[in-house]
Amino acid sequence: MAEKKRHFETEAIRNQTQRSLHREHSVPIYATSSFVFEDAEQARAMFADEIQGNIYTRFSNPNNDEFIDKLCALEGAEAGIATASGMAAMFISIASFLRSGDHILASRSLFGSTHQILTQLLPRWGINHTYVDIHQPEGWEKHIQPSTKMIFVETPSNPGLDLLDLEWLGKLANKHNLLLNVDNCFATPYLQNPIAFGAHIVTHSVTKFIDGQGRTIGGAVLGSKELIKEVKFMARHTGPAMSPFNGWILSKSLETLAVRMEKHCENALHLAQWLEEQPDVIRVKYPFLPSHPQHELAKKQMRLGGGILTFELKGGLERGKRFLNALQMLSFTANLGDTRTICTHPASTTHSKLSDEERAVVGITPGLIRLSVGLEHIEDVKDDLEQAMKNSA
Ligand SMILES: *Cc1c(COP(=O)(O)O)cnc(C)c1O
Repeated sequence: MAEKKRHFETEAIRNQTQRSLHREHSVPIYATSSFVFEDAEQARAMFADEIQGNIYTRFSNPNNDEFIDKLCALEGAEAGIATASGMAAMFISIASFLRSGDHILASRSLFGSTHQILTQLLPRWGINHTYVDIHQPEGWEKHIQPSTKMIFVETPSNPGLDLLDLEWLGKLANKHNLLLNVDNCFATPYLQNPIAFGAHIVTHSVTKFIDGQGRTIGGAVLGSKELIKEVKFMARHTGPAMSPFNGWILSKSLETLAVRMEKHCENALHLAQWLEEQPDVIRVKYPFLPSHPQHELAKKQMRLGGGILTFELKGGLERGKRFLNALQMLSFTANLGDTRTICTHPASTTHSKLSDEERAVVGITPGLIRLSVGLEHIEDVKDDLEQAMKNSA
């Protein structure tokens, strides 16, 4: 009889590193740089990759393995690796597969540092890219070159909250024998599983909703055993390893991901609907609002609308700044995916390195405000937004 598949919440809680001799219920922190060998033969066999086991924390560690095993189960991936930051994950997920002369096709709407990797760093090693505008899907096939090896996308995008059709991209990638690499940070595996739609690699900044409480920096790369073997080789020798302490925290964080995401999404939808009714708000963007241009696609590939929304206040840049300065409770900080509701101004912070034209193409107007909706009581969040709108008018 086929084994019954466990549900998301159960996988996130019950995937646990084997207990030690102390019979602990919760996994301890394995704060050790290295692991001892039982004998010379075991050491030889481990270094020869004939048997699996921990050697050195730059290669693997029980805390990071527990975290990654859970994340793989939640994303439907065969294998994965934890990294010290989301950007380490993005970089290594590209660098492990591309060589000088190769080409990468990417969505123009990318996280700021990913944009810097593609435009400033990879060209140093002869790896070039072409951007495709998120609103011109015909551009994908048109720009594929004989040297193209990878498609790299984020959906929903940051901070434009535009979506890309993952199933369509998965088919395109397979037709042209390309690797589809999806940064799934905004959605988390609770809302969207790119591998189920044909993605080959899923990358995460686990700093965001996966940690969920603004206390760690971390990343992950997930995929088939064969692909992750390449990523592990590069990670082992270049060293972007996650610390065991962060692995321990993040494994614990995954245990509550489902309930946290339910509440983030409930609060975000509520706020998005409320903001749409405010006279000083020009427009609101949220994937699960019927006014979102890709609402149907959002409902097809996402379980809920996510914890991020954007809105544009009347009065442009100056009003936007006055509004941020008037906030009393909400945080004005560059992170997202926290228990605390966070307001950001992409044009002057995360996307400040882009030119005005580049910002306009990805939908970042001067007065755009991004809200990462937290887990406070929604009425208190609304009160602060309301008083800040009034006091900045
Ligand atoms: C934050 C973020 C990253 C970078 O992750 P770090 O953990 O800050 O290195 C990459 N992609 C997206 C979509 C992000 O939001």
